[in-house]
Amino acid sequence: MAALTKEKKPMQTKNKVLIAAVSLVVVVGIVVGVYFGIHNKNNASNNSASSNKSNNPTAGPTTTSASVPNIPQPSSTPQLPSGQNGTMINGTLFPYYTLTGNAPAPVGVAGQVYTTCTTPNTFSISFDDGPSAYTHELLDLLDKEGLKVTFFVNGNNEGCIYDPAVQSVLKRAFQSGHQIASHTWSHPKLTTLTAEAITTEMTRLEQAFMDVLGVVPRYMRPPFGDGTFGAGNANDIKVQSTIKGLGYVITTWDIATTDADIDDNTTPHKLTDDALLKVEQGMVTSVVKGLSGGTHMQLMHDTYSRTVSLMAPWSINYIKGLGYKMVPVATCLGDVDPRNWYQKIGPPAATTPTTCTK
Ligand SMILES: [Zn+2]
Repeated sequence: MAALTKEKKPMQTKNKVLIAAVSLVVVVGIVVGVYFGIHNKNNASNNSASSNKSNNPTAGPTTTSASVPNIPQPSSTPQLPSGQNGTMINGTLFPYYTLTGNAPAPVGVAGQVYTTCTTPNTFSISFDDGPSAYTHELLDLLDKEGLKVTFFVNGNNEGCIYDPAVQSVLKRAFQSGHQIASHTWSHPKLTTLTAEAITTEMTRLEQAFMDVLGVVPRYMRPPFGDGTFGAGNANDIKVQSTIKGLGYVITTWDIATTDADIDDNTTPHKLTDDALLKVEQGMVTSVVKGLSGGTHMQLMHDTYSRTVSLMAPWSINYIKGLGYKMVPVATCLGDVDPRNWYQKIGPPAATTPTTCTK
């Protein structure tokens, strides 16, 4: 949506330049034109880089949604109050989330596929494919609710993990105590890849996580759940054995709100808010059936504005109302110690790349 309106601005600029070549207006026109020209160019490159992003959990890849706006940039020169450790993001201090000391033995089993929680009365909500322009808003909501969730993060999908704004929101999520898990570097269908290519999808993102956060996750979710549906299928065995060899617990879901299938970030939306919520809420209530005491693992995407503004608040209210304990995916599988959410914990890199091009 933004791209369409901004596309006209360089043309207006050209006209201005032609009309007023010798006047002060020309100078103003050029200045304005340069600004919008750069702005529009950046926007276009961002759009082209994020073409494969939709996660349809029940079928194959879906149509590409409209462009997602850029994540707001952090304040340009973060300044920490003296004596405090953490990251300043848009004027707010997020203390460093330190993970030191010895953890108990992990509970989640590498290579095993978990489709729901194992601890009675726990309910995890998780968000795939981000971070995106909407993730800060989601983190604000979760802070307000006092809840921790799981983010299944890509390296280069909606945005590049090394983009300073993406690094910033990812650090905020991590340092706020949310679980950070892997969703592969570029969101491919893993059954279509060789074992070597699957490994690269995981290890390239591992390097980025180490650079940005100083951790390597222990938990992952295959894009589309691909590689977990065909028991005994050779390609599924290849995926699961490769992931197991890399030490990852595989987690899918028992509730998918289908936001990636039916929502968009266009203006106007194809579905009204009411129509959208009717479907998405139905996907939750038809599984939960208004009962407490079971376990559930719910999949959403923080790459849709209405998932963050409408569906996440509704979900939290509904799930809380039934008396569930809302915890991250790893916690509901028995790994309650955050140190067990990660295979490696160390210092982040002093400097990182700022783009995903190599
Ligand atoms: Zn996904």
